[in-house]
Amino acid sequence: MTQIKNTPALDLQIIPVTPFSQNCSLLYDRETMSGVLVDPGGEVDKLLSAAKDKGVTITEIWLTHGHLDHAGGADELRERLGIKVIGPHRDDQFWMDDIAEHWARYGHPGMGRNVVPDRYLEDGETLSLAGAEFHVLHTPGHTPGHVVIYNKDLKIAFVGDVLFAGSIGRTDFPKGNHQQLLDSITQKLWPLGGDMRFIPGHGPMSTFGAERAGNPYVGDRAIANSQPNTSGPG
Ligand SMILES: [Zn+2]
Ligand SMILES: [Zn+2]
Repeated sequence: MTQIKNTPALDLQIIPVTPFSQNCSLLYDRETMSGVLVDPGGEVDKLLSAAKDKGVTITEIWLTHGHLDHAGGADELRERLGIKVIGPHRDDQFWMDDIAEHWARYGHPGMGRNVVPDRYLEDGETLSLAGAEFHVLHTPGHTPGHVVIYNKDLKIAFVGDVLFAGSIGRTDFPKGNHQQLLDSITQKLWPLGGDMRFIPGHGPMSTFGAERAGNPYVGDRAIANSQPNTSGPG
């Protein structure tokens, strides 16, 4: 359980799911006990029991991008809970049309379903949870329709596979683009400030400031010679 500091009401629990240990986030309001799941990539029963244990009613599903380990549980959750799937940007639909097939190719048939969101997200749009506003940035590079969802006051950003603690998203997949990813990070994420904390799709949390200081791909000293990342989780 990670408690978000500086806010009396919002709590966050990170629940790793799928064989890729993808960080699904249960973000919820302690007063109303309503919450959202960000990137429920699979293991729907595990996610539902985590919410039940906390007494949280899930009201929406937010997706950062269309990869199987992030979006694979969304359709089943929508069906079982009667809620909406929001995001990512429409340019990731081709990935979401390939989830079931993709899991089968990885040797895990039935791990996830294809999904068509109820609403695609565009740069500059907002989402809300219990009165807290979350802003949307379109951040292509890892996938063409990737979005980052953040809240300025809480200083928390859900960055999916754009940026990791000490690494960046892979760009050796269809429609991946290394320069586009660098531009998304340096032109859209860094301006949010060094004290912005982020939850990556895989691995530990960090801050934009810590990554500018030491990330070997996009740190201020490394960026001019940045090479694509071609290994690690997708
Ligand atoms: Zn990904
Ligand atoms: Zn991933």
